[in-house]
Amino acid sequence: MPLLRYRKVVILGYRSVGKTSLAHQFVEGEFLEGYDPTVENTYSKIVTLGKDEFHLHLVDTAGQDEYSILPYSFIIGVHGYVLVYSITSLHSFQVVESLYQKLHEGHGKTRLPVVLVGNKADLSPDREVQAVEGKRLAESWGATFMESSARENQLAQSIFTRIIQEIARVENSYGPE
Ligand code: GDP
Repeated sequence: MPLLRYRKVVILGYRSVGKTSLAHQFVEGEFLEGYDPTVENTYSKIVTLGKDEFHLHLVDTAGQDEYSILPYSFIIGVHGYVLVYSITSLHSFQVVESLYQKLHEGHGKTRLPVVLVGNKADLSPDREVQAVEGKRLAESWGATFMESSARENQLAQSIFTRIIQEIARVENSYGPE
């Protein structure tokens, strides 16, 4: 029987960038137009990757800005982060930069499993952040970068498989659990 490993992942970013839509697309496989709850929500899903099984526990947060103080529950016992901005909002990109700095300090400046997501890629005529800027920022953190659209199931799925892989990659670079 494969081992079921528990992974807690927190989704952070400025409000309205698509955090809830991405989590919902991943768990339910659908995009909900105009669905915008502002409360914190959690989701659970069993994810199979090759021979391994993971119990992914996702925490969808209400949204932060550059002044937010991150609670301990976003740091302690968290395996990885999905940091989301919207490609149509430069401000949301600046917010993920500041969130990363806070997380990095909160974790004692160790290497963090992070997937940086530029969401709303379907709205490219309104683009304010180029893909190359997202890629560069993620590289400076040693993290993975993806552009996504919560409207597209495939892309939303791959974010959450990537964060599981990223957690394994960072763990392996420190040796076994
Ligand atoms: P959150 O506040 O970050 O959780 O953002 P929501 O998931 O509530 O999304 C905010 C708004 O953006 C909603 O009206 C969504 O329908 C819309 N939205 C989310 N993701 C996308 C996307 O990838 N493309 C487009 N066009 N709209 C999106």
